[in-house]
This record gives sequence, C-alpha cells and structure tokens, in this order.
Amino acid sequence: MDLGLKGRSAIVCGASRGLGRACAESLAREGVNLVMAARRPDVLELAAKEIRARTGAAIKTVPVDVTTPEGRKVLLTILPDPDILVTNAGGPPPGDFRDWDRAAWIKALDANMLTPIELIKATVDAMIERKFGRIVNITSAAVKAPIDVLGLSNGARAGLTGFVAGLARQVARHNVTINNLLPGPFDTDRLRATMEGQAKAQGVTLDESMARRRDANPAGRFGDPAEFGDACAYFCSAQAGYITGQNLVIDGGAFPGTL
Ligand code: NAD
Repeated sequence: MDLGLKGRSAIVCGASRGLGRACAESLAREGVNLVMAARRPDVLELAAKEIRARTGAAIKTVPVDVTTPEGRKVLLTILPDPDILVTNAGGPPPGDFRDWDRAAWIKALDANMLTPIELIKATVDAMIERKFGRIVNITSAAVKAPIDVLGLSNGARAGLTGFVAGLARQVARHNVTINNLLPGPFDTDRLRATMEGQAKAQGVTLDESMARRRDANPAGRFGDPAEFGDACAYFCSAQAGYITGQNLVIDGGAFPGTL
C-alpha cells in the first residue's frame, strides 16, 4: 500500500537507535524527507547514513537533547514546519518512589510529558493551516498496564496521554491527527538496560531473564523495531486521517484486556 507520504517532511526524535530509528526508516521508505534528532552525533550520523543507503531518502541530522529548550530550538530552526512529528526520548530510570525527589520527577516530566507537548505546541498550528499533520508520540504499554518499578514513566506518560486525548479532538477537523504508540517489549538497547536490573533481582543472567520474558509473551518473542516503525508510518499515512486520539498497544498480546 502506498501511504501517500512522498515528499512530506518529518521530525523524528530519539532517532539514532531503537524504536525512533525504526520509525525514521519506515518513513524514509515512504519517501518522507527526514530530520533525525538524537544526542550522540556519531551514532545519529551512522543511523542516517544507513537509512540513506537503504532508502535514498533526504535526511538531515540534528544532534541535540530534545528535552532541553535549547535543543528543541535548534531542531525547530532546521525544520520549523514538519508535516509529521514523531516524539520520543529515553525513558526514566526504574526505582522505588521513596527515592525520587522533586528533581527526579521534574526530569521525568520534562522528558516524557512536557517535551512532546512543547514540540506539538511549536508545530501544530502550521499543520492546521496546511490541512495536513500527523503527530505520533512513542509512549509505553505501561500507560495501560503500569509497571511498578517504572513509576516515573507511568506518571509522566499518563500526563501526556491525558493531554493528547483532549488536544486530538480540537485539531481533527483540520486533518491533523495525534496518536500514541505504546510499545511492549521490543528488542532494543533500552530493553536490555531495563532488564539488567530485573535479572539481578531474579538472581539469573541477563540472557536467562530475557528468555523467560520472551517465553511469557503470547507471541513467544520480543517485538522487532521494524514492526513498530511500520505501524508508525501507517499512523502518519494519508489513509489514517480518521484515526486520532488513540493509544495503540504493540506488545505481542501481553496486555490481557479487551479495551
Ligand atoms: P533506546 O534506548 O534503544 O533508543 C532511544 C533513542 O532515543 C536513542 O536514539 C537515544 O539517543 C535517543 N534519546 C534518548 N534521550 C534523548 C534525548 N533527551 N534527546 C534526544 N534523543 C534522545 O530506546 P527504545 O527502546 O527505542 O525506546 C524508545 C522509547 O520507548 C523510550 O521512551 C522507552 O522508554 C519507550 N519504551 C520502550 C520499550 C522497549 O521495549 N524497547 C518498551 C516500553 C517503552
């Protein structure tokens, strides 16, 4: 299916690795001109080089921390009026809520709630004027099924989800959609990092702990980031204009509810 995105422009945040990178690659394959942002210039440039080689897409890289006002300013100077915005940043660390002070909460809220909101604020009005806009926020399956040790993530992302639910209905009539993609366990660096703590707690090796989690998933495996990227591209497609304000869990069926 042609997603009708040829010649569109996109900002993809957290695009050097993992799920953000996969979103960038799927959009590039559809002929979208990309601005990829992530913190480490070397890793980011390498990712862009590989995606250019595979897709022939026009890609600019912007090595910034998107959770800072300075970083967002640089990013938006390079592309102030994207047709597509994919928000993403690293998730907060796991831990016990008794150890989190105000600074820890502000950091989590900044990264996983306020940064997406600031980026949406900076780009949504131009999308409304052009009568086309697609915004996808990478959040987490923890929004639907909170994970106890990820309280900072549960809280910050729930805030973003509530905000988006309200805004999505205000902009829908202008062919601007805002949706959230909620990853379950995907095989990325982040998954390995978060599972190291779990393996220690279980008293097993990382590989063993990962094998247990893989087996426990209804699909019997972790998600492939490319599957996530393609879901993102579909949400950004011309055909998806009637899908908005949604929270799509992509987790191999791990979330056991019907809604
Ligand atoms: P990852 O660590 O593999 O990749 C994160 C990417 O974001 C990297 O390119 C990194 O450089 C970039 N990044 C991080 N902080 C940034 C910042 N402040 N500014 C700019 N770029 C930044 O992580 P991932 O697995 O791709 O996860 C992406 C998001 O999805 C995270 O918020 C994570 O918590 C969430 N998530 C992931 C999983 C999973 O299983 N992988 C599950 C649930 C939620």
